[in-house]
Amino acid sequence: MTLRLHNTMTRSAEPFAPLAPPHVSVYTCGPTVYNYAHIGNFRTFLFEDMLRRWLEASGYRVFHVMNLTDVDDKTINGALKAEVSLAEHTARFIAAFHEDREYLRILPAHVYPRATEYVAPMIAMVESLLEKGVAYKGDDGSVYFAIAKFPGYGKLSRLDTRELQAGAGGRTSADEYDKADARDFVLWKAARAEDEQVGAAWDAPFGRGRPGWHLECSAMALDLIGKELDAEVLDIHAGGIDLVFPHHEDEIAQSCAHTGRDEFARVWMHGEFLTMSGTKMSKRFGNILTARDLREEGVDAGTVRLLFATTHYRAPLDFTDQALDAAREGSRRLGAFGARLAAAGAGGSSPSLDAVAAELDTAFTEAMNDDLNAPRALAALFDAVREGNRLLDAGESPGPSLQAVWSRTTDVLQVLPLASGPRVVTMADARDGLEESGGDSDWAVAWAGRRLAAKHARDWPEADRIRDLLTTAGWEVRDRKDGSAEVVRAAG
Ligand SMILES: [Zn+2]
Repeated sequence: MTLRLHNTMTRSAEPFAPLAPPHVSVYTCGPTVYNYAHIGNFRTFLFEDMLRRWLEASGYRVFHVMNLTDVDDKTINGALKAEVSLAEHTARFIAAFHEDREYLRILPAHVYPRATEYVAPMIAMVESLLEKGVAYKGDDGSVYFAIAKFPGYGKLSRLDTRELQAGAGGRTSADEYDKADARDFVLWKAARAEDEQVGAAWDAPFGRGRPGWHLECSAMALDLIGKELDAEVLDIHAGGIDLVFPHHEDEIAQSCAHTGRDEFARVWMHGEFLTMSGTKMSKRFGNILTARDLREEGVDAGTVRLLFATTHYRAPLDFTDQALDAAREGSRRLGAFGARLAAAGAGGSSPSLDAVAAELDTAFTEAMNDDLNAPRALAALFDAVREGNRLLDAGESPGPSLQAVWSRTTDVLQVLPLASGPRVVTMADARDGLEESGGDSDWAVAWAGRRLAAKHARDWPEADRIRDLLTTAGWEVRDRKDGSAEVVRAAG
């Protein structure tokens, strides 16, 4: 069975066929770094992480780009209020975003382009659109995209002209009279005194100013997939459902007008909303719950991920205390089975447990291939736990297959409690004065952090010695491309 993904463009689940397999380009709209991202934003990022992990588990080589919007009205207003430069204001929220991302075990994208670092390709794109006659300079000095010149406008959102007009306000200029058509959106905003004050203005042939939000994503996506994959069309573009209009509609208009292609992305995927009706936490935090609130409350990432996996990414999810409690218990049960399996080893032989492994493998794969049906994939894991526990109780001794399938499937969903799931380690985790012997996960993380520090100092013998130390204590260290590492309890 092949992977099928729901494409917002066609409103149907289609067999996934990337342009140049095994490569897959994935662009996901990232956070606007003016504040801490709330848990609703992270529901989208977690759905995208599940997509990424499943593509990789299926043998694809993913090139994942997530932008950081570090120049827009919100970031500029925040910098003005804090009386710091735009760069200073956004830096702390970028750091916070990565802390939250690591806490939630979200794999790092391969590139996190920041809008302010890609102004040159944005200017080039505006020039190209002006040359092609699909953009014009308004009376206010800003540059706008002329919707009337792009016949395909509205194809993704399927809105009629009246709805498009009503919704065009969004993040575009409030000075409607400067535009030829109320639906037109801004590509380049003429610089104001406030922009200059925080360092948010750049010179351009068509006037000093700053990029519009929609332009940022198109220019960065095309620049990066052009360099990495020599492509002008994305395999997958994903984001929250609220981005369909106007953001993604506008991305399509300016990208396709620029490249001359009839599509900007082959598959458009959108995650549904998270509502917060029934949790005490949301009331305490004024209905805005952030990932760091959850972390400070001691909520394990496995619990959060399991809670989100109980609902399909295209269905709304209500975050309640009861749902969180149930997810915590579910995560604990899965973790306990994983630990039991690890303790049982893989040296035995049991046709019944092999059958459990084969069933889990098939059911999990079919569920994930069916437009990432995580609730069904999760149900397959719980079925395996029930049947596996029954057989282990009966004295069956597992061979290697169940452990292998268990690792592969739980690696994709990352719903096990911290102690049994992989922990991400950076050099900041290195601590002095550590005992040579130990065993708990904090100990392993601290030593793995010291190993990274040793590697950084090119002290290879010390790095090797620490790896041996961890191996002896039953921990496996895996280096990651971004220079961090993971520690996980070694199987068997
Ligand atoms: Zn975007």
